[in-house]
Amino acid sequence: MDDCVFCKIVAGAIPAKKVGENEGAIAFPDINPCAPVHVLVIPKKHVSSLNDVGDGSVMAPVFALAAQVARDQGVDKSGWRCVFNTGPDAHQLVFHVHMHLIGGRKFTWPPG
Ligand code: AMP
Ligand code: ZN
Repeated sequence: MDDCVFCKIVAGAIPAKKVGENEGAIAFPDINPCAPVHVLVIPKKHVSSLNDVGDGSVMAPVFALAAQVARDQGVDKSGWRCVFNTGPDAHQLVFHVHMHLIGGRKFTWPPG
């Protein structure tokens, strides 16, 4: 999609330091990290939000890559959180579905 910042990252038109990739997803650091590890994992295909994933198959590469990135970033054993902000009340700002993979510190529950 032309005006989507994450599609531009997928296309290489906006630079991002990839920390993981598979056939259907890429992972790159969030530019405004909220934890020592804060990686965004996104499908290469444009999907606006979790409301629009259809049968969910577009998300399979995202989950597979997240597990790999968590291992590579060294947080698979200590623990990590994945967050999909979906819609305005949840603070979704970029409308290309993305997993926030965050770790490297302790988190509280419930989230704010
Ligand atoms: P959300 O509020 O869930 O839509 O999160 C969007 C996230 O994308 C924010 O945490 C931003 O810091 C991050 N972000 C926006 N543009 C970029 C970019 N060019 N590279 C990396 N992260 C980005
Ligand atoms: Zn997009």
